[in-house]
Amino acid sequence: MQAFEAANHYFDQAARLLDLSDNIRTLLITPDREVRVEVVIEMDSGRLGNFLGYRVQHDNSRGPFKGGLRYHPAVDDDEARGLASLMTWKTAVVDVPFGGAKGGVNCDPTILSKGELERLTRRFTQKIHDVIGPVKDIPAPDMGTDAQVMAWIMNEYSKYSGFNPAVVTGKPVELHGSIGRESATGFGVALAVREMLGRTKRTVGGSTVAVQGFGNVGSHAARFLAKDGARIVAVADAHGGIQNPDGIDVEALASHVASTRKVGGFEGARPCSNEDVLLSDVDVLIPAALGGVFDKATAEAVRARMIVEGANGPTWPEADDVFNARGIPVVPDILANAGGVIVSYFEWVQNLQNFRWPLEQVRREQEQKMVDAFHDIFDISERMKLPMRTAAFYRAIARVGRAHALAGI
Ligand code: NAD
Repeated sequence: MQAFEAANHYFDQAARLLDLSDNIRTLLITPDREVRVEVVIEMDSGRLGNFLGYRVQHDNSRGPFKGGLRYHPAVDDDEARGLASLMTWKTAVVDVPFGGAKGGVNCDPTILSKGELERLTRRFTQKIHDVIGPVKDIPAPDMGTDAQVMAWIMNEYSKYSGFNPAVVTGKPVELHGSIGRESATGFGVALAVREMLGRTKRTVGGSTVAVQGFGNVGSHAARFLAKDGARIVAVADAHGGIQNPDGIDVEALASHVASTRKVGGFEGARPCSNEDVLLSDVDVLIPAALGGVFDKATAEAVRARMIVEGANGPTWPEADDVFNARGIPVVPDILANAGGVIVSYFEWVQNLQNFRWPLEQVRREQEQKMVDAFHDIFDISERMKLPMRTAAFYRAIARVGRAHALAGI
């Protein structure tokens, strides 16, 4: 099964409850537009670098297309399609006025120089500038891209359309980014953990947590949870894992990663495998790296009491069935990691108004939106006796379907 098929599988589980006609189902799952461009740049060595860039615009019935750009060797059209579809449902679950899109370039940013990354980003922007824009499609960071990449996109786009910072979100704060955007997805994941524990009469303080991925999402989620008293006992990145049953000092680990670029070699924990981290005996397991990490066998071996999906699409449908059968609750990606798009929405609003919010306002409004959405979905899941993922898709499909029905064809 591939990423788009997996997203549609989850869509269908919820769509059955809504009794959609075949035509409406087709309308809702089919991407509106798919763009594939060749991105050729001059490498530092003087030879040419050939890459492929993608932008899939899935649905814009509730607002402009919105979604991240990923720089990773595995980026392809199917992955972009699957992730674009998830964005449509995510923006609807948390009720921000956007649709869904996703894209990226099939490159390995870890081996590109800063100059190569900049040339790649500018070239890609030149190729897609006519399909993006503040009221058309608003990219944001995802795996392998960051605030600097967004700054280059904004600058390149401005050559075609004039000063227009609202064309991308996740920009540097000095260049019209929102305060609190960088940590927003991790903060949202930590809020989802807190609310989920709360609904089962437990607290973050004293809970044990394992995190796969210590990039933007994983590191900030771990930071917020540790600050609230959780013990982060295992962390993995692309190079391996580390464990400490007494709790890892997350701030010290973040400094170690900032200088060495990996969690391995951290003095305050012992090394372990990536798999050891995923199979840790913990209260909360947070996948915050790649998609597709839970297959059937891994799901059967997981020992965590709850899963909160920081990553997009970490759970294949057959693994989801195992978690449901085993009674391991999963807070789905389209709810748990929506903090990023919520604050991207605030950034877009601030850019359109040329007005900056203080951090307290960003955090307060994000918390309100996350907590409201969490309990909305949790209540649907209890009332209709559904897994939270199906409840989230149910809410999202109803909202997007209604927008199409009201707008007309
Ligand atoms: P990032 O590039 O900042 O960090 C990715 C982390 O995952 C790194 O620590 C990397 O070493 C690790 N990793 C990569 N391959 C791995 C592997 N095979 N095993 C273990 N670890 C591995 O990316 P990010 O922005 O933190 O995104 C992580 C996930 O969260 C992605 O699935 C992304 O789509 C999703 N997400 C990100 C945002 C956001 O605002 N950045 C928002 C919503 C969802």
